[in-house]
Amino acid sequence: MDCIFCKIASGEIPSGKVYENEYVVAFNDINPQAPVHIIVIPKTHALTCADDVTYANSVYVAKIFEAIPEIAKAAGLKNGYRVITNCGDDACQTVRHLHFHILGGKQLPDRMS
Ligand code: 5GP
Ligand code: ZN
Repeated sequence: MDCIFCKIASGEIPSGKVYENEYVVAFNDINPQAPVHIIVIPKTHALTCADDVTYANSVYVAKIFEAIPEIAKAAGLKNGYRVITNCGDDACQTVRHLHFHILGGKQLPDRMS
């Protein structure tokens, strides 16, 4: 499986991991777009983006969102943060393994695009 996020999840490629549980890994983005920019992924490669979420696999999304408040708190994001997921070419998704960006640590722009 030639997927950079699977390699990060397995530890094959080193990353700035900030959180890990049975289902989820979070790590600092290599090219941060805010003072805090963390990527949260399910350990499984089963979902490439939001398009693939179904009744049968939505537990992975739930596990990610259960982890997000803890990750944000540990990152010191006391004044809020933004969660973004890109899906497909129009959204400029570059890694086809479902992931959520946590952005914060400054006043973010009110427009998202
Ligand atoms: P996308 O554009 O697919 O929503 O986001 C992919 C994100 O993964 C980008 O923000 C990019 O900087 C980040 N990224 C890509 N390769 C690596 C890597 O090897 N290590 C880390 N930590 N982040 C990566
Ligand atoms: Zn993967």
